[in-house]
Amino acid sequence: RREEALAKRTTDVLRAPVICVLGHVDTGKTKMLDTIRRTNVQDGEAGGITQQIGATQVPASAIKERCKMVKDFDPEGLKLPGFLIIDTPGHESFANLRSRGSSLCDLAILVVDIMHGLEPQTIESIKLLVKRRTPFVIALNKIDRLYGWESNPRKDVRQLIKSQANSPQLEFKERLQKTVAEFAEQGLNVALAWENPDPNEYISIVPTSAFLGDGIGNLMAHIAQYSQTTHAKKLAYCEELDCSVMEVKALPGLGTTIDVILVNGALHVGDIIILAGTDGPIMTPIRELLMPQPLKEMRVKNAYEHFPVIKGAQGVKVLAKNLEKALAGLPLFVAHREDEVDLLREQVQEQLNQALHSIKLTSEGVYVQASTLGSLEALLEFLRSQKIPYCGVNIGPVHKKDVLKASTMLEHNAEFATILAFDVKVERDAQLYADNEGVRIFQADIIYHLQDAFLKYRMFHTGQKRRRENEHLAIFPCKLRVLPQHVFNARNPIVCGISIEAGQLKIGTPICVPSKESLFLGTVSSIERNHEQVRIAKAGEEVCIKIENTTGEAPKLYGRHFTHEDVLISRISRETIDACKTYFREDLSKADWQLVVQLKKLLGIF
Ligand code: GDP
Repeated sequence: RREEALAKRTTDVLRAPVICVLGHVDTGKTKMLDTIRRTNVQDGEAGGITQQIGATQVPASAIKERCKMVKDFDPEGLKLPGFLIIDTPGHESFANLRSRGSSLCDLAILVVDIMHGLEPQTIESIKLLVKRRTPFVIALNKIDRLYGWESNPRKDVRQLIKSQANSPQLEFKERLQKTVAEFAEQGLNVALAWENPDPNEYISIVPTSAFLGDGIGNLMAHIAQYSQTTHAKKLAYCEELDCSVMEVKALPGLGTTIDVILVNGALHVGDIIILAGTDGPIMTPIRELLMPQPLKEMRVKNAYEHFPVIKGAQGVKVLAKNLEKALAGLPLFVAHREDEVDLLREQVQEQLNQALHSIKLTSEGVYVQASTLGSLEALLEFLRSQKIPYCGVNIGPVHKKDVLKASTMLEHNAEFATILAFDVKVERDAQLYADNEGVRIFQADIIYHLQDAFLKYRMFHTGQKRRRENEHLAIFPCKLRVLPQHVFNARNPIVCGISIEAGQLKIGTPICVPSKESLFLGTVSSIERNHEQVRIAKAGEEVCIKIENTTGEAPKLYGRHFTHEDVLISRISRETIDACKTYFREDLSKADWQLVVQLKKLLGIF
């Protein structure tokens, strides 16, 4: 069937290429999308640009309008019906558009900030594009930031560069050369679009200002030209279905729906679709196919239009039963005959397994869970960049069995007994179980928030670990006096009631008598308040303590070596003060720190 469909394919009828925008954070990806989308809306006329589900349809008429100033662009030669540009930029949505290890995204715009050149996420994006064999164009963005740049979005950018003063021209050349060299380091040949000697070998660069609009026409013209010539075959419309589930959404009144990008082929109401689900493949007939109303009529909320059939490339909302457990980030198939069903089920399952198995896990690490394969991959990419290992992954809501897996880390490295849950629900029993076992679940709908929360926790955790390691060094200041009517044992171990006159008394505190040349009595090994063991007691409290001396020295005797008239203090030192300052600063009050100064004088520490 596939062969048949491919054979019928001709490059006379092309479909719109599906375009993704990738690049490092802050290079201007969102701005680029806004600028392309805004095209004619601002001039009062929408120019036919329509908001699709998760994507924007830019029709041929709008492309022509936008490319008017481009010198070597021939509007008559435009064969594409338009572009379908994916609305969410980044790795995540690109990775969601997949089929059999390759990408359903026809072409990507890789945005590079001319002032910064290649950055870590640029390199990640390049690797991903190369791996999925996706052709791409480089938008060398923010050219308006070249010192002295004169903007003119109505001019061909090639002419615009030529018309600049010397200094911005020179700066442009230098920065361009630097970027070309950086791409070469990644093993890629790149060249300015109008100097590209061979589009099969060199990747084209179009200088742009997403902010002011310079070069956007050239970018669109180049994409149109490049895709309808070099990649015409791939864009030949045929009946072969290429469709990816981008998002699973529960909507009031509609139930759980799926948003798909239909790249090629057609979907019909009544088609039996087969797609991946958390509990295995889902098979269900399409009940309705929806797309938003054209912009003009968007005033009505939720104004969807219903279609009996939709042809690619389009963003489509699919309504059907049993979609609650659907998984995003994988292809969707249609079974045309009864005997195809089992085969397609297997295929769906296999694709999911493949995607999950290609992720390399370590024996120790955090557990990662996300709503889509794409977001899972984006999250893993972040973890790798932070050198945070992961020992398990899953997609879909967090169930008790996930917590169970994460909890195995409690025995190895408690810091990793953590689930990072991105844009997924945590089942109630899973949360209860996690709370009981001591597994932390971080949940967020924005990747950066999740990253922040986890990094903060990690810092806190490291802080806690350091505190535990330095606990024995951090002697808190305290000033005590024996309660003479409560002396239960006068020599090693001394057991007596005391009142804490100032500071804090912790187990493990060494005690000495400053009025007797800092005579060392021993270390506090137990503190009892109202017959209950406590770890710490504070100024104003009266408690019973045990002071043990294990040094082997002759025991110091209450009544002979010291009495209730002597003040007892904690024997602090330079080292213990430093440990308190570094790890326990917040644990000591202002009065405690003043006591430290007093004790230093008493003990002759300078
Ligand atoms: P993203 O993180 O890649 O989506 O980047 P954004 O589109 O959010 O842009 C990041 C910042 O750069 C924003 O403050 C934009 O206004 C700014 N920006 C984007 N494109 C340009 C450009 O062409 N020129 C200048 N000067 N600023 C830009």
